[in-house]
Amino acid sequence: MAYLGNPGKTKEVMQRHDFAVKKKFGQNFLIDENILKKIVSAAEITKDDMVLEIGPGIGTMTQYLCEAAREVVAVEIDTKLLPVLEDTLSEYSNVTVINQDILKVDIVSLAKEKNGGKPIKVVANLPYYITTPIIMGLFESHAPLKSITIMIQSEVADRMKASPGSKIYGALSLAVQYYSDIEIVTEVPPSCFLPAPKVGSTVVNLLRCEEPKVKVNNESLMFALIRASFNQRRKTLANGLKNAPMLNFSREQILEAIEAIGKKPTVRGEELTLEEFAKLSDCFDSSTSL
Ligand code: SAM
Repeated sequence: MAYLGNPGKTKEVMQRHDFAVKKKFGQNFLIDENILKKIVSAAEITKDDMVLEIGPGIGTMTQYLCEAAREVVAVEIDTKLLPVLEDTLSEYSNVTVINQDILKVDIVSLAKEKNGGKPIKVVANLPYYITTPIIMGLFESHAPLKSITIMIQSEVADRMKASPGSKIYGALSLAVQYYSDIEIVTEVPPSCFLPAPKVGSTVVNLLRCEEPKVKVNNESLMFALIRASFNQRRKTLANGLKNAPMLNFSREQILEAIEAIGKKPTVRGEELTLEEFAKLSDCFDSSTSL
């Protein structure tokens, strides 16, 4: 098999299919074989696994995934890439390409249909313009997931690992840390892509925890509180929660809850740990529907 993970082969395939990259879809194709091998090895794929690849591009990583996995489902939004993928993946019978926006795919049904509802692995060199909605969507769908091995902007990887008090700590940090353990696989310079992005990249492995890190009565309420407190970062937690249109709590209820978790009325959301957000959430009526 002629692998595509180098500049010469990538340019040749693109020219043969008269394909020009589209910025709006975040198309930066991987052209470094070592990085491709590192990603696939970090995902620890075996012939038992079904892998969901988000954005196969011209099929560079898909080739490696097809060789390692039992079955690969690759979701690509760009219709123009379909004939390219048909060509580059023609040797593999264990791949299905779905021409859709990943944000509209029902991943629970996909895992049911393709993997009998058992946990799947997600592997991707993500389009950077929608990294956060993709990750939040994967976790919040409660689809059965073993791991998410992804290339993301280094700045987003830093946000995922951030701790309370840091300027970059936010809803993404809390969601990723609630649902998974984070491993940094490798840093990746812009020269490993065609075209080269303007930012540095990092491969991370998010290992889905069997049980979330903290216990909370109403998960949706906890995340609504988290979102509300970070939407208005410069405000105190109390003001952030009072101003959130989705939450209907009185100032008294909010101040009582903040006091009950041992915090001052002037505390900011960015000072709270995951455990404290869970406790705060449990102070409100757990039957609150959102
Ligand atoms: N996997 C390829 C590689 O590593 O060379 C391509 C990665 S490129 C960074 C991101 C890919 O995601 C592109 O092929 C792009 O067209 C696709 N994409 C962008 N938005 C998407 C969406 N909403 N749903 C599915 N695919 C998307």
